[in-house]
Amino acid sequence: MSPRPFRIGRSRTGLGLFATEPIRKGKFIVEYRGRKLSNEAAERLEAKGARYMYELNSRWTLDGSSRRNIARYANHSCRPNAESDVVRGRVIIRAIRNIQPGDEITYDYGRDYFKNVLMEIGGCKCVKCLEKAREERRARRLSNLRRQRRAERAAAALNKDVKRRSPQVKQRKTRKKG
Ligand SMILES: [Zn+2]
Repeated sequence: MSPRPFRIGRSRTGLGLFATEPIRKGKFIVEYRGRKLSNEAAERLEAKGARYMYELNSRWTLDGSSRRNIARYANHSCRPNAESDVVRGRVIIRAIRNIQPGDEITYDYGRDYFKNVLMEIGGCKCVKCLEKAREERRARRLSNLRRQRRAERAAAALNKDVKRRSPQVKQRKTRKKG
């Protein structure tokens, strides 16, 4: 049997799974293992702070919190390179892109997780969301800069206007005197 094509390593948000060899698109990576619980039992545990619950269907949930469940180290991403799927009652993680050695293996935990968990802890820290936040900051900076330049140009034009007009004002004054 070939060894696992990944290792556990440090990621942005704690620990993560990182490829140690190329993993081709569509290839099985790891099984998400755990004891089977009724959804009610899983919800009770989740209310007490349990994580790593994977809902299989409308009745059953896998409790993947055991450290032997290596798949639990795969982090969420909104731009994942893997996906989870339930195949005959088992949860598998498979590549949805070609993954290079060193790449973090991630999959999308789903809308509920994003809404209920990530938004509670100050938003998603995945590559896609961090890029988006960076772009938004950059756009804000640029628009502030543009606003500042517009204000400076307006001020400069006003000053030029004042300079151009001031001799006329003087002339008018001299004419009145004369
Ligand atoms: Zn994200």
